Formats: sequence, C-alpha cells, structure tokens
Amino acid sequence: MKTILIIHTGGTISMKENKATGEVNTDGEHPLKELSTFLKESIEIKDEILFYLPSPHIRPDHMLKLGQFIHEKLAEHQYDGVVVTHGTDTLEETAYFLDLFLQTRKPVIVTGAMRSSNEIGSDGLYNLMSAIKVSSCDEAHGKGVLVVMNDEIHTARNVTKTSTSNVATFQSPQYGPIGITTKKDVFFHHKTTSHDSYPIQHLTKNVALIKAYAGMDGTIIEAVCNSGANGMVIEALGQGNLPPETVPALKNTIEQGIPVVLVSRCYQGVVQDTYSYEGGGRKLREMGIIFANGLTGPKARIKLMVALEMTNNPIELNPMFSY
Ligand code: ASP
Repeated sequence: MKTILIIHTGGTISMKENKATGEVNTDGEHPLKELSTFLKESIEIKDEILFYLPSPHIRPDHMLKLGQFIHEKLAEHQYDGVVVTHGTDTLEETAYFLDLFLQTRKPVIVTGAMRSSNEIGSDGLYNLMSAIKVSSCDEAHGKGVLVVMNDEIHTARNVTKTSTSNVATFQSPQYGPIGITTKKDVFFHHKTTSHDSYPIQHLTKNVALIKAYAGMDGTIIEAVCNSGANGMVIEALGQGNLPPETVPALKNTIEQGIPVVLVSRCYQGVVQDTYSYEGGGRKLREMGIIFANGLTGPKARIKLMVALEMTNNPIELNPMFSY
C-alpha cells in the first residue's frame, strides 16, 4: 500500500464561507483533515498542518520552511509521494520554489481550490483527491514539482494562475498541461525536459519585480537600486525591450553590482536580443542584463532569489537563466 503525506499550508481549500455575510476565511478547523472516508484506492494518508495562511501571507521564508519540512519528512519516513495544499494566489511561486529546491525524484504535487469547502461547486476535495492520485502514480516520478487542479497536471515551471475566479484558472500558456486526471486514472501525455535544482540553505535575498510600460523612465529602477535590493527582475516589453529613458538607471544599477534579469510582460515567447535601438534587447544584453528563458516575472524573481544564495556574479548567473 502506498503512503502519501499531505501538508496543508492554508488558502481557500482550507477555508469556509460564512453563509450570512459571504466572507471566506479559516475557522480554526481544517475542512479536509479527515479524508479516509473519501478514498476508494488503498492509499494510506498522513497529514500535517504546517501553516494556516491565505497565500498572499506566504513569504519566501515560509517556502523555504516548507521545502525543508518536505526533505525532513521524506528522510524520516518512506513516503511514496507528497501533496501540498496551498492558496492559489501565490501557489505558482511556492510550487516553482519547491521545484528548484527539492532534491527528490518522488512526486511532489501542489494543489488548491478556487471555491471554499462549503461553497456550491467547491473544488477543494476534488482537487485534493486528484492530487493524491497523481502523487501515488509511478509515472509521476522524476518530473519535478507538479500542480494538479481541475483535472489537469502542469509543471511548476510553466503553470500560472490566469483567472481571478474560474476553476480552470491554472494554465501553462504555450506549453499546455503535461497530463490529465480522470475519475479513475492519471494520463501523462508529455515528457518533461530535465530541470535544474539548487541545494540552498537560506532564502534571504531581496529581489524586486518591476513591470515596464510605455513612457517609463528610470524613477522606479533608481528607487529599487537605492533601496538595498540584491537583485531586480524587469518584465520588459515584447521580445525584451525597454523605453530609452530607463537606460541610465539600468546602467547605474548594474554598476552597483545589482544583477538585473529580463523577462517579457507577454505571456508567451522568450526574450531575445533582437533590437539594437536605445533600450532594445541587443543593447540591454550588451549592458550586462541577464535574459531569462521563458519564465514569468514572479518565477524569475524566485529563481533569482535562489541563485543569489550561491552567487551574484552575472557570468555565473547567466547560464542558470538559460534553462
Ligand atoms: N486568496 C486565496 C489564497 O490564495 C485564493 C485561493 O486560495 O484560491 O489564499
């Protein structure tokens, strides 16, 4: 019989709706603690409540604690897989952090819910059951951290929350899910490419995320540079271009030894050093800006935080962002 560890961290999946006021919150008692009655498969479940937090309250130190907790639990017991329940707002950041941090081939599945436990059409229990199914599936081994929601299996690297309230919110733009779940089964239909992981001990670096816009100047970049930030991620325009007025502030940031990573504010495609006008990708690359290969801004930020625990040398950081 397989044994699966469920780690609850909070989020809507752990909440209830107050029927009189419509407010949604935790009420001190986890609604999905007793699962055995719902499980048809012979799977032994152990569960732990690590946090009871809405996911906008999750910080990098919580992510690290969760990662270390998973390592400890996997070292002390032969669990076959792990399921993490998490609020959906920052789920993709925690899932991607775990993907970069964990050193295991065992399935680690992150799930959540868009509707709390007593709302009509609540998806929490269903998603949790699907996640348990995937975590106990042999084929899920060695695929990195996966996100299971709404009958789909996504990689932590590519998945993102696309809708504020639709239950089909988690999508992997451009790539799609790597598998699906049905009432009885799990079907993988894509192989995952190899992924990188970093055995860090701390997650303390301060990395800012900035979104570019038409007419942007250097004000925000200068403010971040002067704030003591250790790194900066910029969601640039199109293929990786910025308004020319940002360039002096960017040059100064790089001269101060603060690494700058570039992603696109487009939700598909990768940044490229194509344009050689002032602020164009070619000029930005020549200036020493690091181009990230297809990550979203929040995920590039998590990766830069992790990478900065090992080096802040742009020559060493560059290849880490080419994956
Ligand atoms: N605001 C909630 C959270 O992220 C949303 C959810 O869990 O679906 O905790």
